[in-house]
Amino acid sequence: MSIRIEGVNKHFAAFHALQDINLDIADGELVGLLGPSGSGKTTLLRIIAGLEQQDNGRVLFADQDVSAVHVRDRRVGFVFQHYALFRHMSVFENIAFGLRALPRSQRPDEASIRAKVMNLLEMVQLATMAERLPAQLSGGQRQRVALARALAMSPRVLLLDEPFGALDARVRKELRRWLRELHDELHFTSVFVTHDQEEALEVSDRVVVMSQGHIEQVGAPHEVYARPRSRFVFDFLGHSNSLNGVIRDGRLSSGDAWLQVPGLADGEGQVYLRSHELELCSTGNSDAHLPLKVLSVSPVGAEVRLELQPLGFTADPWEVGISHADWEAQDLQRGQTVQVRPRVGHLFVAGETEPRTLRWA
Ligand code: ADP
Ligand code: MG
Repeated sequence: MSIRIEGVNKHFAAFHALQDINLDIADGELVGLLGPSGSGKTTLLRIIAGLEQQDNGRVLFADQDVSAVHVRDRRVGFVFQHYALFRHMSVFENIAFGLRALPRSQRPDEASIRAKVMNLLEMVQLATMAERLPAQLSGGQRQRVALARALAMSPRVLLLDEPFGALDARVRKELRRWLRELHDELHFTSVFVTHDQEEALEVSDRVVVMSQGHIEQVGAPHEVYARPRSRFVFDFLGHSNSLNGVIRDGRLSSGDAWLQVPGLADGEGQVYLRSHELELCSTGNSDAHLPLKVLSVSPVGAEVRLELQPLGFTADPWEVGISHADWEAQDLQRGQTVQVRPRVGHLFVAGETEPRTLRWA
């Protein structure tokens, strides 16, 4: 079921929580709504669900305007961060609940309910736990029950609001992989809300980056990551190092630090450098002079991450990731002064909305 959101606005009293939202979601797509807390993700999801009414604009499912359709009749499944499972009911009964609550004319018979619930339990890999109470499950298992319960009603659209937000990092990673597999198997249309960049980029077909009630950018994960169209998106999609300065004669300078930016007009500029698009050296070169002091070293994971204090220029601490082999070859110590040489940079120039990509040899 495709979803179209057309010119949707929402106010809470004088507060403009959603500002002219337009979004098309294809049938079978898994779209991630990504943004900081308060950016309007939940409000948009609730409007899609019919739990909240927009001030104006339309919501369409396939080509039907559902703006005036009651939540009960939209055939939408939800999963929220805080599992609203019935505590006194078994896992089985929790999943069967919605089916049993249907009007008699639509309600499946007991054998069909049983078959459907058992099938869902298999799917969420909880077949052996049908008789347990929610309290006897782990957080991750409870969220799988919540998902099975949502799917029991054969929703046309599945809406997930930070469904794994309350779980620990390892379980979260497992569940997001599992959700993606389930989605690929069942092809429902899903909207997945998260404030976690990694989660959104890993799980979604397309990511919708939101900020302060509007959409900043929509695109495939690799596209949004490689070509952020605004500073906000850049900042939000992972740590990057910034150099704020003045461009004169093809060189961007800030205090003692500088970078060659050939061919660029004089003015103010801000360069973003990603932690893995940099190299560490003992000296600068003709392209860059970026002195920093090693603050901390973290050798955990696929690469060694260094936190560096800018020397002679003002910026938040920088982060650089280098391979373990390079790390060992360079023999760097905390407190030591190093230089950074960028390979790729993303330059925002005053007066331009989109960044330019810069490359150095
Ligand atoms: P997110 O899910 O991205 O964290 P929300 O959609 O929950 O953001 O909220 C967006 C903004 O709207 C927030 O500033 C929030 O305080 C406000 N808001 C949300 N719901 C209500 C409400 N029922 N009444 C008043 N303000 C609300
Ligand atoms: Mg929210």
